Amino acid sequence: MAAGSKDGGVRTVCSYCGVGCGIVLDVVRDPADGRRRAVRATGDRAHPANAGRLCTKGATSADMMAAPGRLATALVRAGRGAEPSERDVDAAVTEVAGRLRAILDAHGPDALSFYVSGQMSLEAQYLANKLAKGFVRTNGIESNSRLCMASAGSGYKLSLGADGPPGSYEDLDRADVFLVIGSNMADCHPVLFLRMMDRVKAGAKLIVVDPRRTATADKADLFLQIRPGTDLALLNGLLHLLVAGGHTDEEFIAEFTEGWAELPAFLAQYPPERVAGLTGLPESGIRQAARWIGEAGEWTSCWTMGLNQSTHGTWNTNALVNLHLATGALCRPGSGPLSLTGQPNAMGGREMGYLGPGLPGQRSVLVDAERAYVERLWGIPEGSLRTEVGRGTVDMFERMAAGEIKACWIICTNPVASVANRRTVIAGLEAAELVVTQDVFARTETNAYADVVLPATLWAEADGVMVNSERDLTLVQGVVDPPGQALPDWRLIARVACEMGFAEAFTYTSAEEVFDELKQAWNPATGWDLRGVDYGRLRDRPVQWPAPTADGPDRNPVRYLNDGVSQTLLERPDGSRPRLVFPTPSGRARFFARPHLPPAELPDDDYPFVLNTGRLPHQWHTMTKTGKVAKLNRLDPGPFVEVHPEDATALGVGEGDHLEVASRRGRAVLPARVTDRVLPGTCFAPFHWNDLFGEYLGVNAVTNDAVDPVSFQPEFKVCAVTLTRTAAP
Ligand code: SF4
Repeated sequence: MAAGSKDGGVRTVCSYCGVGCGIVLDVVRDPADGRRRAVRATGDRAHPANAGRLCTKGATSADMMAAPGRLATALVRAGRGAEPSERDVDAAVTEVAGRLRAILDAHGPDALSFYVSGQMSLEAQYLANKLAKGFVRTNGIESNSRLCMASAGSGYKLSLGADGPPGSYEDLDRADVFLVIGSNMADCHPVLFLRMMDRVKAGAKLIVVDPRRTATADKADLFLQIRPGTDLALLNGLLHLLVAGGHTDEEFIAEFTEGWAELPAFLAQYPPERVAGLTGLPESGIRQAARWIGEAGEWTSCWTMGLNQSTHGTWNTNALVNLHLATGALCRPGSGPLSLTGQPNAMGGREMGYLGPGLPGQRSVLVDAERAYVERLWGIPEGSLRTEVGRGTVDMFERMAAGEIKACWIICTNPVASVANRRTVIAGLEAAELVVTQDVFARTETNAYADVVLPATLWAEADGVMVNSERDLTLVQGVVDPPGQALPDWRLIARVACEMGFAEAFTYTSAEEVFDELKQAWNPATGWDLRGVDYGRLRDRPVQWPAPTADGPDRNPVRYLNDGVSQTLLERPDGSRPRLVFPTPSGRARFFARPHLPPAELPDDDYPFVLNTGRLPHQWHTMTKTGKVAKLNRLDPGPFVEVHPEDATALGVGEGDHLEVASRRGRAVLPARVTDRVLPGTCFAPFHWNDLFGEYLGVNAVTNDAVDPVSFQPEFKVCAVTLTRTAAP
């Protein structure tokens, strides 16, 4: 019934996690009011990411879209503490633009900040970055990807020269061994996990490393229940054993890498006995993992927050990539380090450069030629882009709390609930002169602090492109009518920019026009750009970049093949190894010696337990969307804190009793779940439930906002807490 309609529905992509499953959305026109509504979501059998599979979240997408509570107008508050009142969206846009302009003129560019999201379309991410860096001239733009994938991004850049996975999901179909470390794929990326399990059932080995015995660990051939925060010791220990076992690929190391010379002496510090002591793992398990990896024809690693949300998250990625470089297990079918993204377009946001010094096309304000290129693309004077860069999300809200930042525009995300040690965010928003939020549902923890809430469209109500974890671009088509005056994120950004005085650069008639501009940001000389993609091609099917030409293949599963050979021709008829050129200064991938470091906060007499946080299978993020779906709420109905039976006995708590979980920063009160899935001395709580569901449920009042010095990603995964039996809140 709409452009792109196939098999009775409209092809689109799931709006939740970064697997990026294809969805066929059934849309009907309501005879009562003539509006188009989504009635059913089913898996798209033709989509390369999922081949028809969906998890519970994707399958209930239509229910989520029909949920009550949508914003149909803007909301404006007369003053802090006042009840918000409805406002015409045109008037609200004018008010936002006027107040931002006034703060910009009075206090300069660094008084404005933007906090955006991996759930926005590529077009909206591009325009937000263009407005912030190019026209407001502040690098004070942050994204919730800082909480999620920043360490993988900075680690990839250091090791391989560019962000993003070098391989693709197809590697899961061909690997002989999987190393899943710091990732509960079974719950967080379920469809991809099922694909991995297809291969495991066919004989591949699954190694899972996690401090908690997760649903993923339940399926492992080898589960290594590691002491929290000791991944670097394990990764170095595995490389030690690979070298000792003669499993390194000397030809690959010599031809395509640099930095290997210093590794043997460094690795001598990580014999299995010492690694076992640091990690709490049995030596036999460490040796078994190294043997399977070393003897594998092909092996793939997958990781997410367990490695990323660490004060040495960047190093974790470097140490993991070291294993691939040493074994030559990279850029060939079945092998590679495949970091998984948590949001539907977090990968796209990284392409758009919305973190730190980033510019679209994976360029940087810190590189003269790249800065100059983007200045020309945006039609701004040479030297306009500034080279001072921020220090991450936590720093941004701290500077807001200190009065340096006067205004914050938050788009499509909920930082009051999601940022570690969230009281910093609350202090920042309370201190700011102007807080603007842009969202789809009226009630979120962050909207409660907004002076103006702009009504945005939901997924499938507007056109836009999403990029999944394997670099697949899928077009989300606007096939459902949004409520009232809700507008696409990209259009709200463009309209505010125009009214701020930047109309020459922000007058667009469609998302497609924005896309055609943003794809010019890539450097064609790299050979891994996406200039060959346009809406016409995407209306028909997803395209995986690199896609430099319109007539090239749609599937391009491996990057860094820069010798003119098709991305799909990895297996040369003559058996020769494809030539790899990494986008580093030397063209070689880099080894790094990354020593084991402890987490920022360790348990002590005052705070004797380690808290770990994470996700559940049927809820997502801070539940602004999944919390509206009755089926999902029945499956994952409420929060809890897992404690080991030994600790429960010592604490005098039983199943369902309430525990206060308190750190040096704050407290949460949660019902206990007594289970040996966690190690003694540790506990685990999901982070989904927050203020809208009850007082003291938000575990990010407790978590630690110490950050990785390279990626600025907070260490959500390890903090020291007390556990005390208490009454229900
Ligand atoms: Fe959506 Fe992720 Fe579930 Fe796929 S696995 S249906 S992308 S939430």
